[in-house]
Amino acid sequence: MSLTNLLDLLPAEIESLMESLGAPRYRARQIVDWIYRKGVTDLDRMANLPRELRLALAERACVDVPVVERRTPSQDGSQKFVFRLGDGARVQSVLMPDGDRLTLCVSTQVGCGFGCAFCLTGAMGLERNLTTGEITGQVLSAARSMTTSERITHIVYMGMGEPLANYQPTVRSLRLLTDPLAFGLSSRRITVSTVGLVSGIEKLAREDLRVNLAVSLHATSNRTRSRLMPVNNGFPIEALLAACRRFPLPFRQRMTFEYVLLDGVNDSPEDARELARLLRGIRAKINLIPFNDWHGAGFSRPSLPRILAFQQTLLERGVTATVRWSKGEDIGAACGQLSEAVVA
Ligand code: SF4
Repeated sequence: MSLTNLLDLLPAEIESLMESLGAPRYRARQIVDWIYRKGVTDLDRMANLPRELRLALAERACVDVPVVERRTPSQDGSQKFVFRLGDGARVQSVLMPDGDRLTLCVSTQVGCGFGCAFCLTGAMGLERNLTTGEITGQVLSAARSMTTSERITHIVYMGMGEPLANYQPTVRSLRLLTDPLAFGLSSRRITVSTVGLVSGIEKLAREDLRVNLAVSLHATSNRTRSRLMPVNNGFPIEALLAACRRFPLPFRQRMTFEYVLLDGVNDSPEDARELARLLRGIRAKINLIPFNDWHGAGFSRPSLPRILAFQQTLLERGVTATVRWSKGEDIGAACGQLSEAVVA
């Protein structure tokens, strides 16, 4: 019988597991405390559990944490983690310091099946979905490799894969991250990024999670967006923005729209004006991402004056727009650069 990874279970489900082993429910709280507070994943080291329970539990469950295979520091202070999963597949996370914030960008799939034309991860294709424990395990594993003074304060679901295409594990990982017994993060500190999967956005809107949403828009016409992002053929801009307008944002939060600037493709003054028009009536902020080059991409980054002119056009129309100079560019960890040989 294969072992249940305790990282896949919510605290209430560990309580049920305890009951099925004939142990009191409060033992679950102790286990959760060992894993998420003390970072202990060896059942045998959970000293306040009776020995018989530890033995019985070891026959049914384990704590399988992604292994840090590589950790590469960037000159800008960010770090790329390459994690090896139980089956030898690899995913990446990026840790990004910014003032007193420490943000971890996690992956939700090995590779990605959405094939955005400008994205290196998309060029890999989809290998498989991650489990709940493989998503939260990236947070646990990164946290365990830090010094005691460092603490992850924010999580963004912007690594490899489309979170809403791996819906249940993503939502369960969000529940674990916000559960006071587990990671205990405020939902306001968590952002789920989506390629624009309208069906997933609508489902997420119905959950009681209240996380932030970041939407990859990247174009202002369906013609260009479909060329850049095949998902637009199923969910065109009008349907996407209608779903965004209905999404219940956390109090005082704004929805982020990601817009990668590609020279001569989507960076004209008309595009900037149309972008401002499209987002009218949405509490939005725009992240302008100058394209991060990768070998064979077929796109290039606009000149600095053109990037700044695009931003200025938005600002003049009252739209909050920041240029995000991606972190980790020198280590292949910037937006759209995450790629990894997927199996050992
Ligand atoms: S941009 Fe996101 S959704 Fe598109 S291919 Fe890359 S990882 Fe997938």
